[in-house]
Amino acid sequence: MPALPVRDDLRAVRPYNTRPFPSMGDPVALLNNNESPRPPEGRHLETLCSAASRALATANRYPDTDLAALRSALARYAGHGVRADMVWPGNGSNEVLLHLLQTYGGPGRTALGFVPTYSMHEQIATITGTRWTSADRGSDFGLNHEVAAAAVEQHRPDIVFLCAPNNPTGTPLDRATLDVILRTAPGLVVLDEAYVEFSAIGTQAGLLAEHPQLVISRTMSKAFGFAGIRVGFLLASPDVLSPLRIVALPYHLSTLTAAVALAALEQADELLAHIPGVLAERGRMRDALVDAGHAVMPSDANFLFFDTGTDSSTMAAGLAGRGVLVRDVGPAGWLRVTVGHPDENNVFLKALFELSS
Ligand code: PMP
Repeated sequence: MPALPVRDDLRAVRPYNTRPFPSMGDPVALLNNNESPRPPEGRHLETLCSAASRALATANRYPDTDLAALRSALARYAGHGVRADMVWPGNGSNEVLLHLLQTYGGPGRTALGFVPTYSMHEQIATITGTRWTSADRGSDFGLNHEVAAAAVEQHRPDIVFLCAPNNPTGTPLDRATLDVILRTAPGLVVLDEAYVEFSAIGTQAGLLAEHPQLVISRTMSKAFGFAGIRVGFLLASPDVLSPLRIVALPYHLSTLTAAVALAALEQADELLAHIPGVLAERGRMRDALVDAGHAVMPSDANFLFFDTGTDSSTMAAGLAGRGVLVRDVGPAGWLRVTVGHPDENNVFLKALFELSS
């Protein structure tokens, strides 16, 4: 068969890898996706089911194009003066970032990121034909304002990607670095706050009013435990968001998704009450790793980035052989592990220590 006529610029691009070890049996510790270990249950699950039933009863009708109720609820949740017209929801933050790059990126435009960082930023740039360029975070994985300013000056990017806390390193974003980028970037500044509910620093949504070029990306996949439902949202000025309606497909978010997301947002306080427990587990895991001699990056998120002191791909495969999934996204030697259920965390620590000895 002749070569398939895939776009030339996509031929060397690999799909995002969500199944690292397809041949392994049932995992016992799912610590590779930074998910919440808590499925919906009890009264919360019943509320979601009622909302889903009500939505299903109108399944013959298209969804509300405006998603007005969901945008209002997300605005209330975001706080910091965010209004409904400053919210753009979609099927996960990946999709809303795609809408953003389809609108503001594309051929002839450049996006800049600071690596290592969330690999989908580069992927979304690439699939929208946006030129991706990156600057290195340096050996401590921090991002100091001089490195950031020099990279912005050198590349003059149309879009700068920041991630706070940064995935995979867990490190917070220095406020001086954010300020310098907001001052000097010639185009949009995207701040990915997927893990912000776990962060001691918290959201920068309060900056939106004075920085019309700032776009904040949020998700219900992590702290809300809603990864399977697919709800993410951008926060930005209405002027920035309004053109996204050109690229988004009509009715992109289903009635069912919007209804259960609304029901979850109404229970936000109860749903987020588990976060202090995650942070306590994070501290316990960190101490155990440090005691065993591993370098561990300070984490402001629901995962830890640590140096295995050995070949990380061999270690990740060894862990997978014991049913423990973690993420090996480089740099060499380092692995990312989600703070999961305490039982999963114990299985991980035991397996790691056995494999290291
Ligand atoms: N941003 C970051 C930094 C992430 O780590 C993730 C998920 N791994 C996402 C965005 C995408 O999340 P979702 O599409 O589930 O909202």
